[in-house]
Amino acid sequence: MKREALALEVTSVVLGASRDFLAKEGFIELLPVILAPVTDPLRTTPEWATIFAYGRPWYLTRSMIFHKQAAVRVYPKIFCFSPNVRLEPPERAQTGRHLFEFVQLDLEVRGATREEVMELGERLFLYILAEVRKECGKALEAWGREVPEYSRPFLRIPWHKARQELGEDFEAELSRQSKTPIWLVDFPIDQREFYDREDPEQPGILRDMDLLYPEGFGEALSGGEREYQLERIKARILRQGLSLDSYRPLLALAEDGLSPSAGFGIGIERLVGFICGFPHVAQVRLFPRVPGEEALL
Ligand code: AMP
Ligand code: MG
Repeated sequence: MKREALALEVTSVVLGASRDFLAKEGFIELLPVILAPVTDPLRTTPEWATIFAYGRPWYLTRSMIFHKQAAVRVYPKIFCFSPNVRLEPPERAQTGRHLFEFVQLDLEVRGATREEVMELGERLFLYILAEVRKECGKALEAWGREVPEYSRPFLRIPWHKARQELGEDFEAELSRQSKTPIWLVDFPIDQREFYDREDPEQPGILRDMDLLYPEGFGEALSGGEREYQLERIKARILRQGLSLDSYRPLLALAEDGLSPSAGFGIGIERLVGFICGFPHVAQVRLFPRVPGEEALL
């Protein structure tokens, strides 16, 4: 089988397995939102993709974080395969992990704690691996890749501890050293965006997490509990030097009443790339969007 065909088959099984698993867990699927009046601030990606229509700019969604917070007001467990456009700097073409258009499986649960969505994430990930092993195990073996098996719970390490023990490049180092997926938890407040909830018991530390793939494949997912109270959201926006005016639609929702919630987003190309053992996420997509590179179609 051609490598491109294998990538398509594995992607298709990953999407189907995710939908099966989440339906059994009581989730419903949202249709994706592509254009929005407000989107994820993502301070590490300073460029914005916008179009101008009907007298105003519209952002191409960088994530559906605010839509998820709005959606759990209506339904308690939601997910979406969300196409995201992030104008990553061209040098990120070399990381093997960045596209400027990619898809994440983005989910949110009303009233959930971080620990509950971490547990859900582990079970989802293991279910996906089991389905891929069943459906594509032989084809992957022919390419020299065995679908790995892990048991849960995965190891958890606080951000500060990882940094203290492994130095500046701790995230890459943890991913390289680890033989199983590993959670990084408790990020410092200024490392993340304003919507990750500050821990009321540990001021300055967030109730959030990343899952790292083993074998040096890097970050798999990010998530956490969310700020949902108007005054706290405002304080966090201002703390990051952002303007309240830019987030007016979110503030209006919060004024009306947001629910506490937790969730995460897992990049599909990185997940399939990890399962297949591909060195670059571009190999997962038939029509990859690599920062700074031309596209055939
Ligand atoms: P984030 O909210 O920025 O952590 O993004 C959620 C997930 O999407 C990450 O954990 C990655 O798996 C994936 N992701 C983020 N940025 C990119 C990118 N530029 N290209 C491909 N996947 C990405
Ligand atoms: Mg992240």
